[in-house]
Amino acid sequence: MSYARDNIARLIAYAPGEQPTAERMVKLNTNENPYPPADAVLKAVGRVSADQLRRYPPPLAPAFRQVAARFHCLEPANVIATNGGDELLRMAFTAFCGVGECGIGQTQPTYSLYEVLANIHDTPITTVPLNEDWSIPDDFAAQLNKAGCRLALVVNPHAPSGHLEPVAKLEAIAGEFRGVLLIDEAYVDFASTSALPLVGRRNVLILRTLSKGYSLAGLRFGYGLGHADLIATLDKVRDSYNTDILAQVAAIAAIENAETARDNATKVIAERQRLTSALIELGFIVPPSETNFLLAQPPDGIEAESLYQSLREKAIFVRYFRQPRLTDKLRITIGTPQQNDALIAALKSLR
Ligand SMILES: *Cc1c(COP(=O)(O)O)cnc(C)c1O
Repeated sequence: MSYARDNIARLIAYAPGEQPTAERMVKLNTNENPYPPADAVLKAVGRVSADQLRRYPPPLAPAFRQVAARFHCLEPANVIATNGGDELLRMAFTAFCGVGECGIGQTQPTYSLYEVLANIHDTPITTVPLNEDWSIPDDFAAQLNKAGCRLALVVNPHAPSGHLEPVAKLEAIAGEFRGVLLIDEAYVDFASTSALPLVGRRNVLILRTLSKGYSLAGLRFGYGLGHADLIATLDKVRDSYNTDILAQVAAIAAIENAETARDNATKVIAERQRLTSALIELGFIVPPSETNFLLAQPPDGIEAESLYQSLREKAIFVRYFRQPRLTDKLRITIGTPQQNDALIAALKSLR
Protein backbone atom coordinates (compact mmCIF):
# COMPACT_ATOMS: atom_id res chain seq x y z
CA MET A 1 0.00 0.00 0.00
CA SER A 2 1.06 3.57 -0.65
CA TYR A 3 0.75 6.69 1.46
CA ALA A 4 0.65 8.79 -1.71
CA ARG A 5 -2.46 10.54 -2.93
CA ASP A 6 -4.07 8.40 -5.63
CA ASN A 7 -3.02 10.67 -8.48
CA ILE A 8 0.56 10.82 -7.15
CA ALA A 9 0.71 7.03 -6.71
CA ARG A 10 -0.31 6.74 -10.39
CA LEU A 11 2.01 9.52 -11.55
CA ILE A 12 4.81 8.89 -14.03
CA ALA A 13 7.27 11.61 -13.01
CA TYR A 14 8.99 13.96 -15.44
CA ALA A 15 12.09 12.40 -16.99
CA PRO A 16 14.74 15.07 -17.61
CA GLY A 17 17.46 14.55 -20.22
CA GLU A 18 20.47 12.63 -19.04
CA GLN A 19 23.30 14.60 -17.33
CA PRO A 20 26.26 12.30 -17.98
CA THR A 21 29.50 12.98 -16.12
CA ALA A 22 32.00 11.68 -18.69
CA GLU A 23 34.93 14.05 -19.10
CA ARG A 24 35.12 13.94 -22.88
CA MET A 25 31.71 13.97 -24.39
CA VAL A 26 29.59 15.89 -26.83
CA LYS A 27 26.45 16.82 -24.93
CA LEU A 28 23.67 17.78 -27.33
CA ASN A 29 20.72 16.35 -25.40
CA THR A 30 19.20 19.03 -23.12
CA ASN A 31 19.31 22.25 -25.17
CA GLU A 32 21.87 23.93 -22.97
CA ASN A 33 23.70 26.86 -24.56
CA PRO A 34 27.19 25.78 -25.67
CA TYR A 35 28.68 29.20 -24.82
CA PRO A 36 29.35 30.63 -21.34
CA PRO A 37 27.23 33.37 -19.74
CA ALA A 38 28.45 37.00 -19.66
CA ASP A 39 31.52 37.58 -17.42
CA ALA A 40 29.45 40.19 -15.55
CA VAL A 41 27.18 37.40 -14.25
CA LEU A 42 30.04 35.62 -12.46
CA LYS A 43 31.42 38.93 -11.18
CA ALA A 44 28.00 39.88 -9.76
CA VAL A 45 27.72 36.54 -7.97
CA GLY A 46 31.24 37.02 -6.58
CA ARG A 47 30.25 40.38 -5.10
CA VAL A 48 27.39 38.94 -3.00
CA SER A 49 28.25 39.62 0.66
CA ALA A 50 28.03 37.45 3.77
CA ASP A 51 25.33 39.81 4.99
CA GLN A 52 23.24 39.26 1.87
CA LEU A 53 23.53 35.50 2.41
CA ARG A 54 22.65 35.84 6.10
CA ARG A 55 19.39 37.60 5.29
CA TYR A 56 16.35 36.39 3.37
CA PRO A 57 16.32 37.59 -0.22
CA PRO A 58 13.84 40.27 -1.36
CA PRO A 59 10.72 38.07 -1.86
CA LEU A 60 9.48 39.89 -4.97
CA ALA A 61 12.90 40.38 -6.60
CA PRO A 62 12.08 44.07 -7.17
CA ALA A 63 15.47 44.99 -8.64
CA PHE A 64 15.21 42.19 -11.19
CA ARG A 65 11.63 43.15 -12.08
CA GLN A 66 12.76 46.75 -12.68
CA VAL A 67 15.57 45.68 -14.99
CA ALA A 68 13.41 43.16 -16.87
CA ALA A 69 10.55 45.65 -17.22
CA ARG A 70 12.88 48.27 -18.69
CA PHE A 71 14.42 45.67 -21.01
CA HIS A 72 11.00 44.69 -22.39
CA CYS A 73 9.44 48.20 -22.28
CA LEU A 74 6.89 47.08 -19.65
CA GLU A 75 6.14 47.92 -16.01
CA PRO A 76 7.50 45.92 -13.03
CA ALA A 77 3.87 44.94 -12.31
CA ASN A 78 3.97 42.96 -15.59
CA VAL A 79 6.90 40.80 -14.40
CA ILE A 80 7.15 37.89 -11.97
CA ALA A 81 10.49 36.22 -11.13
CA THR A 82 10.51 32.43 -10.79
CA ASN A 83 12.82 29.58 -9.86
CA GLY A 84 13.34 28.56 -13.49
CA GLY A 85 10.62 28.79 -16.12
CA ASP A 86 9.33 25.47 -14.81
CA GLU A 87 8.21 27.15 -11.58
CA LEU A 88 6.12 29.62 -13.56
CA LEU A 89 4.38 26.65 -15.18
CA ARG A 90 3.75 25.07 -11.78
CA MET A 91 2.34 28.35 -10.45
CA ALA A 92 0.02 28.72 -13.46
CA PHE A 93 -1.39 25.22 -12.85
CA THR A 94 -1.91 25.97 -9.16
CA ALA A 95 -3.55 29.34 -9.86
CA PHE A 96 -5.78 28.55 -12.85
CA CYS A 97 -6.69 24.85 -12.98
CA GLY A 98 -9.35 22.93 -11.06
CA VAL A 99 -9.28 19.36 -9.73
CA GLY A 100 -11.42 17.03 -11.81
CA GLU A 101 -12.69 19.86 -14.04
CA CYS A 102 -11.48 23.01 -15.84
CA GLY A 103 -8.15 21.54 -16.84
CA ILE A 104 -5.45 22.38 -19.35
CA GLY A 105 -5.29 22.30 -23.11
CA GLN A 106 -2.11 21.41 -24.96
CA THR A 107 -0.87 20.24 -28.32
CA GLN A 108 0.66 16.87 -29.20
CA PRO A 109 3.61 16.74 -29.18
CA THR A 110 4.66 19.41 -26.71
CA TYR A 111 6.89 19.96 -23.64
CA SER A 112 6.28 16.77 -21.66
CA LEU A 113 6.35 18.58 -18.30
CA TYR A 114 2.84 19.99 -18.94
CA GLU A 115 1.24 16.57 -18.69
CA VAL A 116 3.19 15.73 -15.54
CA LEU A 117 2.14 19.00 -13.87
CA ALA A 118 -1.48 18.36 -14.83
CA ASN A 119 -1.31 14.91 -13.25
CA ILE A 120 0.31 16.31 -10.09
CA HIS A 121 -2.55 18.84 -9.86
CA ASP A 122 -5.12 16.15 -10.72
CA THR A 123 -6.51 18.37 -13.45
CA PRO A 124 -7.80 17.02 -16.78
CA ILE A 125 -5.87 17.35 -20.05
CA THR A 126 -7.29 18.13 -23.47
CA THR A 127 -4.77 17.26 -26.19
CA VAL A 128 -4.97 18.58 -29.75
CA PRO A 129 -2.62 16.92 -32.29
CA LEU A 130 -0.53 19.36 -34.33
CA ASN A 131 -0.86 19.54 -38.09
CA GLU A 132 1.55 17.64 -40.33
CA ASP A 133 3.81 20.74 -40.57
CA TRP A 134 3.81 21.15 -36.74
CA SER A 135 1.49 24.17 -36.88
CA ILE A 136 -1.46 24.52 -34.48
CA PRO A 137 -4.87 23.48 -35.90
CA ASP A 138 -7.26 26.39 -36.49
CA ASP A 139 -9.86 24.93 -34.11
CA PHE A 140 -7.42 24.67 -31.17
CA ALA A 141 -9.17 27.34 -29.07
CA ALA A 142 -12.63 26.03 -30.00
CA GLN A 143 -11.70 22.52 -28.85
CA LEU A 144 -10.32 23.84 -25.56
CA ASN A 145 -13.39 26.00 -24.96
CA LYS A 146 -15.63 23.01 -25.57
CA ALA A 147 -13.70 21.00 -22.96
CA GLY A 148 -13.89 23.87 -20.45
CA CYS A 149 -10.10 24.34 -20.24
CA ARG A 150 -8.91 27.17 -18.02
CA LEU A 151 -5.27 27.15 -19.12
CA ALA A 152 -3.83 26.63 -22.61
CA LEU A 153 -0.15 25.83 -22.99
CA VAL A 154 1.55 26.66 -26.26
CA VAL A 155 5.31 26.40 -26.62
CA ASN A 156 6.48 28.82 -29.31
CA PRO A 157 8.88 28.34 -30.97
CA HIS A 158 7.67 24.78 -30.62
CA ALA A 159 9.55 22.03 -28.81
CA PRO A 160 10.58 19.56 -30.04
CA SER A 161 10.02 20.57 -33.69
CA GLY A 162 11.48 24.11 -33.68
CA HIS A 163 8.43 25.40 -35.62
CA LEU A 164 7.49 29.07 -35.05
CA GLU A 165 3.86 30.22 -35.13
CA PRO A 166 3.24 33.81 -36.24
CA VAL A 167 2.15 36.24 -33.52
CA ALA A 168 -1.16 36.83 -35.35
CA LYS A 169 -2.05 33.16 -34.89
CA LEU A 170 -1.37 33.35 -31.14
CA GLU A 171 -3.38 36.56 -30.96
CA ALA A 172 -6.34 34.83 -32.61
CA ILE A 173 -6.10 31.94 -30.11
CA ALA A 174 -5.95 34.42 -27.19
CA GLY A 175 -8.98 36.24 -28.57
CA GLU A 176 -11.08 33.10 -28.88
CA PHE A 177 -9.91 31.09 -25.85
CA ARG A 178 -11.92 31.68 -22.66
CA GLY A 179 -9.07 30.84 -20.25
CA VAL A 180 -5.46 31.93 -19.82
CA LEU A 181 -3.11 31.36 -22.76
CA LEU A 182 0.42 30.63 -21.53
CA ILE A 183 2.93 31.11 -24.33
CA ASP A 184 6.10 29.26 -23.40
CA GLU A 185 8.93 31.23 -25.01
CA ALA A 186 11.78 29.18 -23.58
CA TYR A 187 13.54 29.32 -26.99
CA VAL A 188 12.56 32.82 -28.10
CA ASP A 189 16.17 34.06 -27.92
CA PHE A 190 16.87 32.01 -31.06
CA ALA A 191 13.67 33.01 -32.91
CA SER A 192 12.81 35.83 -35.30
CA THR A 193 9.62 36.98 -33.50
CA SER A 194 8.14 36.99 -30.01
CA ALA A 195 4.63 37.33 -28.56
CA LEU A 196 5.67 40.30 -26.42
CA PRO A 197 3.12 42.62 -28.16
CA LEU A 198 0.35 40.46 -26.61
CA VAL A 199 1.38 41.15 -23.00
CA GLY A 200 -1.31 43.82 -22.55
CA ARG A 201 -4.09 41.28 -23.08
CA ARG A 202 -5.84 40.15 -19.91
CA ASN A 203 -5.43 36.43 -20.65
CA VAL A 204 -1.90 36.15 -22.04
CA LEU A 205 1.05 35.03 -19.94
CA ILE A 206 4.52 34.68 -21.46
CA LEU A 207 7.20 32.40 -20.04
CA ARG A 208 10.86 33.38 -20.32
CA THR A 209 13.91 31.59 -18.99
CA LEU A 210 17.59 32.36 -18.58
CA SER A 211 18.41 28.66 -19.02
CA LYS A 212 18.75 28.57 -22.81
CA GLY A 213 19.43 31.98 -24.36
CA TYR A 214 21.43 33.29 -21.38
CA SER A 215 23.50 30.12 -20.73
CA LEU A 216 22.27 29.86 -17.12
CA ALA A 217 20.45 26.51 -16.84
CA GLY A 218 22.37 25.80 -13.62
CA LEU A 219 21.12 29.02 -12.01
CA ARG A 220 17.40 28.18 -12.11
CA PHE A 221 15.90 31.52 -13.05
CA GLY A 222 12.93 32.32 -15.24
CA TYR A 223 10.19 34.90 -15.34
CA GLY A 224 6.66 35.55 -16.46
CA LEU A 225 5.38 38.55 -18.41
CA GLY A 226 1.69 39.42 -18.43
CA HIS A 227 -1.15 41.70 -17.49
CA ALA A 228 -0.71 43.08 -13.94
CA ASP A 229 -3.85 41.23 -12.75
CA LEU A 230 -2.48 37.88 -13.96
CA ILE A 231 0.88 38.58 -12.33
CA ALA A 232 -0.87 39.48 -9.04
CA THR A 233 -2.81 36.18 -9.16
CA LEU A 234 0.37 34.18 -9.72
CA ASP A 235 2.07 36.06 -6.92
CA LYS A 236 -0.45 34.63 -4.45
CA VAL A 237 0.72 31.07 -5.10
CA ARG A 238 4.45 31.81 -5.12
CA ASP A 239 6.75 30.25 -2.50
CA SER A 240 7.62 33.06 -0.07
CA TYR A 241 11.27 33.26 -1.18
CA ASN A 242 11.09 31.52 -4.53
CA THR A 243 14.25 33.03 -6.04
CA ASP A 244 17.45 33.19 -3.99
CA ILE A 245 19.80 36.16 -3.71
CA LEU A 246 22.53 34.63 -5.91
CA ALA A 247 20.02 33.97 -8.66
CA GLN A 248 18.49 37.46 -8.42
CA VAL A 249 21.89 39.15 -8.62
CA ALA A 250 23.02 36.93 -11.50
CA ALA A 251 19.75 37.40 -13.41
CA ILE A 252 20.05 41.19 -13.21
CA ALA A 253 23.60 41.05 -14.57
CA ALA A 254 22.49 38.66 -17.34
CA ILE A 255 19.75 41.00 -18.58
CA GLU A 256 21.95 44.10 -18.21
CA ASN A 257 24.53 42.35 -20.40
CA ALA A 258 22.06 40.89 -22.87
CA GLU A 259 24.40 41.63 -25.79
CA THR A 260 26.50 38.61 -24.73
CA ALA A 261 23.41 36.42 -25.04
CA ARG A 262 22.58 38.02 -28.39
CA ASP A 263 26.09 37.38 -29.73
CA ASN A 264 25.92 33.74 -28.57
CA ALA A 265 22.50 33.33 -30.21
CA THR A 266 23.93 34.68 -33.49
CA LYS A 267 26.63 32.01 -33.36
CA VAL A 268 24.10 29.27 -32.52
CA ILE A 269 21.85 30.36 -35.38
CA ALA A 270 24.76 30.24 -37.86
CA GLU A 271 25.61 26.73 -36.67
CA ARG A 272 21.94 25.75 -36.85
CA GLN A 273 22.01 26.57 -40.55
CA ARG A 274 25.26 24.70 -41.10
CA LEU A 275 24.15 21.59 -39.16
CA THR A 276 20.78 21.55 -40.92
CA SER A 277 22.50 21.53 -44.33
CA ALA A 278 24.97 18.85 -43.23
CA LEU A 279 22.17 16.59 -41.95
CA ILE A 280 20.11 17.07 -45.10
CA GLU A 281 23.20 16.19 -47.10
CA LEU A 282 23.36 12.92 -45.12
CA GLY A 283 19.75 12.14 -46.05
CA PHE A 284 18.00 13.33 -42.89
CA ILE A 285 14.68 15.16 -42.99
CA VAL A 286 15.05 18.36 -40.94
CA PRO A 287 12.24 20.91 -40.67
CA PRO A 288 13.26 24.56 -40.28
CA SER A 289 13.98 25.42 -36.64
CA GLU A 290 13.78 28.76 -34.81
CA THR A 291 15.33 27.27 -31.65
CA ASN A 292 18.74 25.98 -30.53
CA PHE A 293 17.90 22.41 -31.56
CA LEU A 294 16.87 20.39 -34.60
CA LEU A 295 14.36 17.57 -34.90
CA ALA A 296 16.02 15.26 -37.39
CA GLN A 297 14.54 12.18 -39.03
CA PRO A 298 17.24 9.71 -40.15
CA PRO A 299 17.12 8.40 -43.72
CA ASP A 300 15.15 5.23 -44.52
CA GLY A 301 16.81 2.11 -43.17
CA ILE A 302 18.31 3.83 -40.13
CA GLU A 303 16.29 3.55 -36.92
CA ALA A 304 16.36 6.66 -34.75
CA GLU A 305 16.59 4.71 -31.52
CA SER A 306 19.53 2.57 -32.60
CA LEU A 307 21.27 5.66 -34.00
CA TYR A 308 20.75 7.34 -30.62
CA GLN A 309 22.40 4.30 -28.96
CA SER A 310 25.30 4.18 -31.41
CA LEU A 311 26.01 7.89 -30.86
CA ARG A 312 25.80 7.34 -27.13
CA GLU A 313 28.50 4.66 -27.38
CA LYS A 314 30.70 7.31 -29.00
CA ALA A 315 29.95 9.68 -26.05
CA ILE A 316 27.73 11.86 -28.23
CA PHE A 317 24.47 12.50 -26.41
CA VAL A 318 21.30 13.50 -28.26
CA ARG A 319 17.66 13.10 -27.19
CA TYR A 320 15.29 10.32 -28.20
CA PHE A 321 11.58 10.46 -27.29
CA ARG A 322 9.39 7.36 -27.24
CA GLN A 323 6.26 9.37 -28.10
CA PRO A 324 3.79 9.55 -30.99
CA ARG A 325 5.34 11.25 -34.06
CA LEU A 326 8.79 11.25 -32.41
CA THR A 327 9.92 7.61 -32.32
CA ASP A 328 11.56 7.97 -35.75
CA LYS A 329 13.39 11.20 -34.93
CA LEU A 330 16.25 12.60 -32.84
CA ARG A 331 16.33 15.96 -31.15
CA ILE A 332 19.77 17.43 -31.48
CA THR A 333 20.90 20.54 -29.57
CA ILE A 334 23.08 22.93 -31.58
CA GLY A 335 26.58 22.82 -30.12
CA THR A 336 29.82 24.65 -30.81
CA PRO A 337 31.27 24.22 -34.33
CA GLN A 338 33.65 21.56 -32.91
CA GLN A 339 30.81 19.62 -31.25
CA ASN A 340 28.69 19.77 -34.39
CA ASP A 341 31.65 18.59 -36.47
CA ALA A 342 32.10 15.64 -34.09
CA LEU A 343 28.42 14.75 -34.54
CA ILE A 344 28.61 15.01 -38.33
CA ALA A 345 31.79 12.87 -38.40
CA ALA A 346 30.16 10.23 -36.20
CA LEU A 347 27.05 10.14 -38.38
CA LYS A 348 29.22 9.69 -41.48
CA SER A 349 31.12 6.83 -39.84
CA LEU A 350 27.86 5.12 -38.84
CA ARG A 351 26.36 5.17 -42.32
C1 LIG B 1 13.77 24.74 -20.88
C2 LIG B 1 12.30 24.90 -20.99
C3 LIG B 1 11.53 25.59 -20.05
C4 LIG B 1 12.03 26.21 -18.78
O1 LIG B 1 13.15 25.66 -18.29
P1 LIG B 1 13.81 26.21 -16.94
O2 LIG B 1 15.19 25.66 -16.98
O3 LIG B 1 12.97 25.70 -15.81
O4 LIG B 1 13.78 27.69 -17.00
C5 LIG B 1 10.19 25.73 -20.29
N1 LIG B 1 9.62 25.24 -21.39
C6 LIG B 1 10.32 24.57 -22.31
C7 LIG B 1 9.63 24.06 -23.52
C8 LIG B 1 11.67 24.37 -22.14
O5 LIG B 1 12.36 23.68 -23.06
